[in-house]
Amino acid sequence: MSFYITTPIYYANSLPHLGHLYTMIVADTIARHKRQQGIETFFLTGTDEHGINIERAAERAGRTPKEQADYVVNYFKQMTAEFGLDTEHGGYDIFMRTSEPFHYEGVSEFWRRAARAKTPKGNDAIYKGHYEGWFCAACAAYKSEDEYAKPKNPGDPPTCLIHDMALDRISEDSYFFRLSDYGDALLELYESRPDFVQPETRKNEVTSFVRGGLQDLSVSRLKSSVSWGVPVPDDPEHTMYVWFDALTNYITAIGFGNEQQNRAVGFEKFWPALHLVGKDILRFHAVYWPAFLMAAGVEQPRAIVAHGMWLDPNGRKMSKTLGNTIELDVLSKHFSVDALRYFCLREMVFGQDGRFGYEALIDRTNSDLASGLGNLSSRTLTMITRYNSGRVPSGVISEDKLLLAKRTGVDTDATTIAGFIEHARVQYLQQLETYSFSRALEVAWSIVARMDKMISEAKPWELAKDVNQSQTLGAVLYRAAETLRWLCVMLYPAMPGATQEIWRQLNLSEKLAGMDPAKLKWGELKEGVPIGEVKPIFPRIDKARTMGAIGQNSEVRSQKSGIGGQKSEVRSQRSEGETDGPSLRAELATESAPSGTHATEADAVPGAPQADATPAPPQHATEADAVTGAEGVANFIDITDFTKVELRVGQVLTAARIPKSDKLLLLSVDIGEEKPRQLLAGIAEHYTPEEMIGRKIAVVANLKPRKMRGHDSQGMLLAATVGEDDKPVLATFNEDVPNGARLK
Ligand SMILES: [Zn+2]
Repeated sequence: MSFYITTPIYYANSLPHLGHLYTMIVADTIARHKRQQGIETFFLTGTDEHGINIERAAERAGRTPKEQADYVVNYFKQMTAEFGLDTEHGGYDIFMRTSEPFHYEGVSEFWRRAARAKTPKGNDAIYKGHYEGWFCAACAAYKSEDEYAKPKNPGDPPTCLIHDMALDRISEDSYFFRLSDYGDALLELYESRPDFVQPETRKNEVTSFVRGGLQDLSVSRLKSSVSWGVPVPDDPEHTMYVWFDALTNYITAIGFGNEQQNRAVGFEKFWPALHLVGKDILRFHAVYWPAFLMAAGVEQPRAIVAHGMWLDPNGRKMSKTLGNTIELDVLSKHFSVDALRYFCLREMVFGQDGRFGYEALIDRTNSDLASGLGNLSSRTLTMITRYNSGRVPSGVISEDKLLLAKRTGVDTDATTIAGFIEHARVQYLQQLETYSFSRALEVAWSIVARMDKMISEAKPWELAKDVNQSQTLGAVLYRAAETLRWLCVMLYPAMPGATQEIWRQLNLSEKLAGMDPAKLKWGELKEGVPIGEVKPIFPRIDKARTMGAIGQNSEVRSQKSGIGGQKSEVRSQRSEGETDGPSLRAELATESAPSGTHATEADAVPGAPQADATPAPPQHATEADAVTGAEGVANFIDITDFTKVELRVGQVLTAARIPKSDKLLLLSVDIGEEKPRQLLAGIAEHYTPEEMIGRKIAVVANLKPRKMRGHDSQGMLLAATVGEDDKPVLATFNEDVPNGARLK
């Protein structure tokens, strides 16, 4: 069995941007999933390098067209490496370039076959004629009257509706592809293969476009107008139209038309492909390409699957003018690759448009990854370290301990949890097969939630106190660890890096890339095996700080725009909906994140020094109900006084609002003790419970417990008070610190 998936090959006149990255992430996820199933998979991406647009850009830059293409390809390869999508990271198998000699060979053969062919109506599929009309170099497309804007001054050329650029008037001899004869054959194809164009809505668009009647397509330009391209076989005064050339890469890349090469084996083996495309270039893939293939007598693709576009958080198209683009260098600087992959797959309902904003990306990372999967992983493995000497416990509860276990509320029947997870696995895989990534991940996260619930109900820290409950404790921890093992295998295609990291911490050695989730069996995690070193997988992102740093980035960027004409060379785009390529990391000035406002600094802010005030107990946000707003150093204390205060690092495990209190949050905080502390904090007006979960905070551990609003508070967290309304800003840590570490 084999499988072949392609992204579009990207026009080498623009630098890579979010749209490119997204298609590659999706293709990469599908490819990894297929490989896990043991299917031999070939994943293609690359660049489309011919055409007038690149020729012109090269001229402006004083380069040859090939050098111009090399320049852009270099950035694409850098991007794919940075985001773990290249061959080295288990991503694509080929970075295809249409400037490759074997492509010239293959596409020439393809043209010859089409040129010899008759249409379904018995006419020559390719004929020579004369073209007269308008052409957008950036779209690399001829424009009919409804596709351009009339000029303001009569006599000027009309402008492209997509690019707002003047169109070229073309009046020259040209080869035509007799597309008008293929309407019925195409409709038959869509009819007989309902999955040929996906999703359904896109298929309907394509069908109605074809029903509306097809016009013949000019498929060449005079060499005197466009020389950078593949010469028409046997008529070198003509250059092939770039789409005819570009689409054919999908077959030449695996050997079509150069049978003498080893690659020919690839064509037999891998064709037909699944083409993953943005909806903006669907027509080229679902109408022109199948017609070309019919003419050349080559089998049709497996399917053409179109995804939607990323909009900004307000639902607007992203553009440089609006300043709402997502910059790849910002993504790679501030976010882990897997957080980004997760967001892309989770946030866009595949096929529809999605919204992308840095804030939403941070929120998802924190809630689903730091507090979700990451927390489940570190919590489980930490407890195994603490309660079972770092070895995977047995999951079995013996007969004589069953009743005891039952009494604690732990489900003594391991098949309940196994059944839940097996069922979720089936659903997950079904969703993945239909590219419903968002739904699939939702299902996987229902497993995370189920485990969190199991742990908080079983309270392993309580069980650990009772030697009679050691089997119950073991069973709970085993289930959590075994679930992690399942999640790693299932989620590997979506998040290869993070799952491999958890895998290492579980001290498992089999290759995730080759493990089929359908074959997982509950209980195959071996007991007694020592686990690896526990490390956090998804550090929590400080939203305010990161947003601040990102803001600074874009300021730096806008100050620098206009410098270095290289960017403008690659400005115009072929397809609708795309935005200018991002500026690249190398072009960025070094920038430093603003140092956060720390509690200690805020305390020292000159405000109202009250040297003569009576030593008052420090005012903290935790006592917000009683905050008076006193600030400034009251007086000095000895170091011995200070050492009386025991400050510890804590991590918030749960957070909830308290009925009838606007200010208080009820937190349970792990400060490295057997059992989490319950704390009340007067921060509810400024922090939501969701924001608090997973967060590392500083806790006064030896404060006498107090009761507030009927709840015990066993300690106090530290926060700065800022501004006139004494807004609390939590003291936190920029580096990773273990829970319970002492502050001194
Ligand atoms: Zn255009």
